[in-house]
Amino acid sequence: MNTKLIDGKEIAKKKRSEMKSRVVELKRLGVQPHLAVILVGEDPASKTYVKNKEKACQEIGILSNVFHYETDTDERTILQKIEQLNSDPAIHGILVQLPLPEHIDAKKIIRAIDPKKDVDGFHPINIGKRILGEKSFIPCTPLGIIVMLEEAGVSISGKHAVVVGRSNIVGKPIGQLLLDKDATVTYCHSKTKNLKEYTVQADILIVAVGKSRLIKADDVKEGAVVIDVGMNRDENGKLCGDVDTLEVLPKVSRITPVPGGVGPMTITMLLANTIEAAKTVHKIG
Ligand code: NDP
Repeated sequence: MNTKLIDGKEIAKKKRSEMKSRVVELKRLGVQPHLAVILVGEDPASKTYVKNKEKACQEIGILSNVFHYETDTDERTILQKIEQLNSDPAIHGILVQLPLPEHIDAKKIIRAIDPKKDVDGFHPINIGKRILGEKSFIPCTPLGIIVMLEEAGVSISGKHAVVVGRSNIVGKPIGQLLLDKDATVTYCHSKTKNLKEYTVQADILIVAVGKSRLIKADDVKEGAVVIDVGMNRDENGKLCGDVDTLEVLPKVSRITPVPGGVGPMTITMLLANTIEAAKTVHKIG
């Protein structure tokens, strides 16, 4: 593998192996980390994500249960299930796979999850705590990016980080996390005029847009570190990121590939958050 590539697969493998040992220790203390996943409907991508999450849990010894509901299940049924999982002391983490069918209010569902079990970090309480710098669950993708930067030895303090994309699950939180690590942060989005004017200033460029190969060599600064969050299909149906990796590679100092970059880290951080939830409940440091 090109030494400029930040190998998410390898970092994820290392982290998962560390977590596996941690789970063994927890079991020795009588604690079995347990994740509950709620899936509504038959969206093929969601089903694949859930299957991958289950498999990842299994590999490191975390128990997982998937509650799969039909597309036309009413909101009340899901809320009742969440209530039951909230009060079940054996369950440490609750995840509702998004998107939900349109007749279900995703915001209401997320708010119903006990913040102490919100391993996706989407509950307003966790978002508020994160902004205040208090201990909270951090959404898995941005958390994975921070871990990757650390593992790759990229220093963040004093750097200019430009984040393209401002979604609640990736763009906004990653900017906040980088700010907390003393980066100077600029956010760009679909209404940003002359995007390139900003991206070429980035020491650390995070791209979370969802547009195949939007970022070209001309858009990046020489020596920049580029994190490509995008997961798209190009015109040939090939999986690709938001960055034109081949074009950009000679110019950057480090870059995450797609696939094999941010993707493997996301599920890994879900495992980390579930272990953390179990440790917190059982007051294990
Ligand atoms: P959203 O669609 O929620 O957000 C996209 C963001 O990109 C918006 O803020 C939007 O701006 C901005 N945007 C759209 N077009 C442009 C443009 N031309 N120039 C600049 N900004 C633009 O996407 P997500 O954040 O959920 O996901 C982004 C990508 O990351 C997707 O490809 C997704 O599949 C991938 N992803 C990958 C994960 C992984 O584990 N690898 C996890 C999560 C996401 P505005 O707010 O103005 O609309």
